[in-house]
Amino acid sequence: MAILRVTKYGEDILRQKLKPVNYADIAPVLPKLLADMEETCMAKNGVGLSANQVGLDYRLAIILLPNSKNENAKPTRYVIINPVILSKRGEATEEEGCLSVPGLWADVTRATDITVRYTDENGEEQVKRMRGLLAKAFQHELDHLDGKIFVDLVDPKLKPEVKKLIKKLRPQWD
Ligand SMILES: [Zn+2]
Repeated sequence: MAILRVTKYGEDILRQKLKPVNYADIAPVLPKLLADMEETCMAKNGVGLSANQVGLDYRLAIILLPNSKNENAKPTRYVIINPVILSKRGEATEEEGCLSVPGLWADVTRATDITVRYTDENGEEQVKRMRGLLAKAFQHELDHLDGKIFVDLVDPKLKPEVKKLIKKLRPQWD
């Protein structure tokens, strides 16, 4: 396993709409890629990581959902390939961060309850209802696959402040 470099705000690949994945094509490289993405995400205390955050043009992301009852327990890993949102309900505004914009936290409004479809790490199609942090993470990761970053969703009034903060943080990024 290896800790990969995470691409940062301002890099072109984070603004790309990523290519749909043909599961059979990536199956041979998937176990190592997922292990590396998981290790990278854990090392940086992230909840999720998309393929373009490690420099790859795949519609694929992982979510590492913390165990709410025991923070020392291993998180549950979701591998979402070619994800789509079938329906959305509810709305909540909560603070969010992103490993590609390290050091920045900002309020973002998202659906609280979603029904989704994706291919899992075994190539099986899944349809699931997700709520809470899992729903929030799924939407955040799907945005990455469409070339969007959470700061795009910040209240327009706060955007000048966000830009200023990014400029200040950027020299600390690897
Ligand atoms: Zn992110």
